[in-house]
Amino acid sequence: MTAGGATVEATTTEQRRAALEAIAVEVRACTRCKLAGGRTKAVPGEGHPDTEVLFVGEGPGQTEDAQGRPFVGRAGELLVRLLASIGWRRQEVFITNIVKCRPPGNRDPEPDEIAACAPYLQRQLEVLDPAVVVTLGRFSMAHFRPGERITQIHGTHAPAPAATGARDALAYALFHPAAALRSTDVERQSYDDIAGLPRVLTEARTRRATASANPPAGAPETLPTATLPTAADIDLGDDAPTLF
Ligand code: URA
Ligand code: SF4
Repeated sequence: MTAGGATVEATTTEQRRAALEAIAVEVRACTRCKLAGGRTKAVPGEGHPDTEVLFVGEGPGQTEDAQGRPFVGRAGELLVRLLASIGWRRQEVFITNIVKCRPPGNRDPEPDEIAACAPYLQRQLEVLDPAVVVTLGRFSMAHFRPGERITQIHGTHAPAPAATGARDALAYALFHPAAALRSTDVERQSYDDIAGLPRVLTEARTRRATASANPPAGAPETLPTATLPTAADIDLGDDAPTLF
């Protein structure tokens, strides 16, 4: 915490967990768009409150709508296999979607629905302050890498716009796992792309460390860099994420 009262670095695991649960409670009762009428359960998202990596999909499918949890159907099984291929587990990251309620018949989410739901994702980003946002599919990519084409930028990263709520994150674009289930070419490409993710995380950490050591002119005063703990110094407990 800085003398000026900014609370970002000082936020504890429990505070983040509580803030995420408060957002989830609102999402479960939300009626801000027409998707509320067709849902069984809203799907706020889930994962580790201390994670450095946020995965953002499109919207809940049938299984997710029934269970109220993200990526628990066939696309989710593939996502877990993709994560396993780089030695990561789903409990170590956070997984959510652009829209939190299932579009009927798995149709594409519509612009008014995406806009209505965006504040929840923005608040999740503000709480988690991830180093990397992994976009899954076109709709998530359009939010974090506007104006791009998935076929051209999959497997690449760029800074996430601050307007999304990401303070200092690299947005890394992957194909949607459901697309990989439909095409063995896309599946193979997805394994290649996710293999680049650990290196992107390392790069994002370096960027963030450099930014906090050299704050832009006019940035709020912070503690001397030498006194700030690095990620390696922070004891996150037994269930802490262990991403390398
Ligand atoms: N597809 C998505 O985009 N999100 C989910 O949560 C599940 C499938
Ligand atoms: Fe609310 Fe988002 Fe669900 Fe629409 S999709 S009802 S904005 S939670």
